[in-house]
Amino acid sequence: LNKDISSDSDRDDSVKFDMPQLNASSRKLLRWWLNEAQRRLKLKEAILPLIQQGMNSHCEKCLSRKNLKVDSVVSFEEMDKKFTFQYPSENFNLVLWKSYWKTHQAYETKCLLCISQEKDMARSNTTQVSKIIQEHQGDNNWGPVFLQESSRAILMQWYKEAHENIFEGGEGRTRNSVDISDDEGGDVSFKWAQRKFVSDEATKGIALKWLLNSRAILQRRQK
Ligand SMILES: [Zn+2]
Repeated sequence: LNKDISSDSDRDDSVKFDMPQLNASSRKLLRWWLNEAQRRLKLKEAILPLIQQGMNSHCEKCLSRKNLKVDSVVSFEEMDKKFTFQYPSENFNLVLWKSYWKTHQAYETKCLLCISQEKDMARSNTTQVSKIIQEHQGDNNWGPVFLQESSRAILMQWYKEAHENIFEGGEGRTRNSVDISDDEGGDVSFKWAQRKFVSDEATKGIALKWLLNSRAILQRRQK
């Protein structure tokens, strides 16, 4: 009765799994990732006692002495980035890392109640911002926004100045002009489009109008 099963198990025990074949670059990437994970773990372990030592005897907001929690002012990620940048070849030097941490770090002690109040506040701020955005969006049934000649002129000036500002210095000079009238592409991968520039209230207003108008067109197309 059990013949089939027993013969089955007898047959071949070197089962061949389908192992994914890693090419050289994948292997390299995997090794780098492992190395990086190990390094970060070591660095983190090294500074945990330093953070604990930085704890104050009371909450810095309400002076409570109960349920205290200490944290570093500068995040581990930020510190790691700066340290690695300054000492690229000393990645695993824990002595140097700890001394760097002590020099550039500060600590914050707060009670759990204050921490949760801060979280609530941050959440409510986020809600307010999204409310403002919703108010701007209205019921999504606005008609097209027609720019007056003067607005159009200001918009063109604003675009030209932004473009010139950003291309100044030559880094991005490969593209001399960008066609802003192209509604189809939606390509915002140009360097200049991702950089910050300073604008006054009037240009902000026009930019917002322009943005809302473009979005209205897109939304109507999707219907
Ligand atoms: Zn507190």
